[in-house]
Amino acid sequence: MSDDLLKKVISHAKEYGFVFPSSEIYDGLSATYDYGQNGSELKNNIKNYWWTAMVKMHENIVGIDASIFMHPATWKASGHVDAFNDPLIDNKDSKKRYRADVLIEDHIEKIRGKINKEVAKGFKRFGDDFDEVEFRKTNPNVLRNVVKIEEIEQKFKDSLGKDDLPAVKALIEELEIACPISGSKNWTEVRQFNLMFSTEMGSVAEGANTIYLRPETAQGIFVNFLNVQKTGRMKIPFGIAQIGKAFRNEIIARQFIFRMREFEQMEMQFFVKPGTQKEWFEYWKKTRIEWHNSLGLGEENYRFHDHLKMAHYADAATDIEFNFPMGFKELEGIHSRTDFDLKAHEEHSGKKLQYFDPQENKSYVPFVVETSIGLDRMFLAILSNSLKEEKLENGTERTVLALPAALAPIKVAIMPLTKKDGLPEKAKAIFDDLKLDFNCTYDEKDSPGKRYRRQDAIGTPFCVMVDHQTLEDNTVTIRDRDTMKSDRVAISELSAIIGEKVSFKSLMK
Ligand code: ATP
Repeated sequence: MSDDLLKKVISHAKEYGFVFPSSEIYDGLSATYDYGQNGSELKNNIKNYWWTAMVKMHENIVGIDASIFMHPATWKASGHVDAFNDPLIDNKDSKKRYRADVLIEDHIEKIRGKINKEVAKGFKRFGDDFDEVEFRKTNPNVLRNVVKIEEIEQKFKDSLGKDDLPAVKALIEELEIACPISGSKNWTEVRQFNLMFSTEMGSVAEGANTIYLRPETAQGIFVNFLNVQKTGRMKIPFGIAQIGKAFRNEIIARQFIFRMREFEQMEMQFFVKPGTQKEWFEYWKKTRIEWHNSLGLGEENYRFHDHLKMAHYADAATDIEFNFPMGFKELEGIHSRTDFDLKAHEEHSGKKLQYFDPQENKSYVPFVVETSIGLDRMFLAILSNSLKEEKLENGTERTVLALPAALAPIKVAIMPLTKKDGLPEKAKAIFDDLKLDFNCTYDEKDSPGKRYRRQDAIGTPFCVMVDHQTLEDNTVTIRDRDTMKSDRVAISELSAIIGEKVSFKSLMK
């Protein structure tokens, strides 16, 4: 069923100009996608909402826009040249390649599924008297599976921590994990695979330099730490935010825009006094989940998950997972990165990257708490959560994209009831008046019902209909996407009515 939903999302995204496969006329390029006319509007609105919440709403956070190419030493310092690897394993029969950690995590997820089934059974048996917490603590089947999960997690963490790849393979064999395609357990050894794309800068013949396409935007922030701190006279704690493209040669790139080889990140590095990082880690966990909840996608669709495979730089890390059509998956990472990055850049560049703390009267390398969210994943979360097929009272159906109104690509569609009697002219005048404030569209083709459906499908929160009465008393009807109810209002009120519903302020309330 969830596969079905993902398929529906993909085809809806294509049919209505949100997301196209890249270079489609050449049969596409694997794991790359293009955003269409509505998709790029939605994407821009997500970016703006993030930027508003992070940069505009925090006096001590500023934003930058660093280049994608960086000095190659950056990636040596950050650890990406040596440690930005995924452990991968091939199935000899299907010839399919997998990430070993993903195979193991999927196996754990299956065990979790068993636990949830057990809980659901308990719920059915005891009804309203069911005490889930107690049940989870005492039911022998649940407990057995919890122990199983803990054992697997521990073994896996130990072997990866020691870079013991044969032990990772042994664990896959011990768990009898089979290839989902061939069904066989005929695996190759586990190998490490670096995920960075490289290219050459300068003329290839003489003295070409291998450089990388950045695999994360964070390093552009670290190398500019002092530039920003000094020119912006920033005082700790303070943050630097950035939105931009990142590139990773993902082994398994599938599930639409969830895992792409070229994607966009919205990252913020928050520089704090050493020793205070735990507090700030908690602060950002809370602040970021509030941001997500403000969008109204349903609090039950989010959960925190501490990752098994902690990145090489982190002393605490959690993921915000979202309930995608494929199940709960990582949407955002919140990492306490210690002073790893700045110290590493000090070593590799020979430059001091320190902050003079006037209160302490000494200099130190700040610690960093990072929030890092994939813009494309956020896009998928919103799109898949908003796509609804509704049965209407009159027996018909409609497809509606119930996007948060503030993020909708088009905020209002202005329509003349008919193409004559001066109605188009009147409608166009309203369009011209509103277009500076909101992203508007003008539509006069087909019956009103068809036009409404078209706007429903791209998530337009309002449709304004200009009819004969408009010519008499300067009123129009305004139809609400979600309730499908129309109200008659004065043209002069439109801007306020629409503005109230589509502003970021309305989300942040
Ligand atoms: P995953 O475990 O899913 O590969 P990650 O832990 O490597 O993700 P981070 O390095 O923490 O991801 O990157 C921060 C965010 O960037 C992720 O939470 C995700 O939203 C996004 N992201 C990472 N890789 C991709 C990708 N290949 N395609 C789209 N978004 C991505």
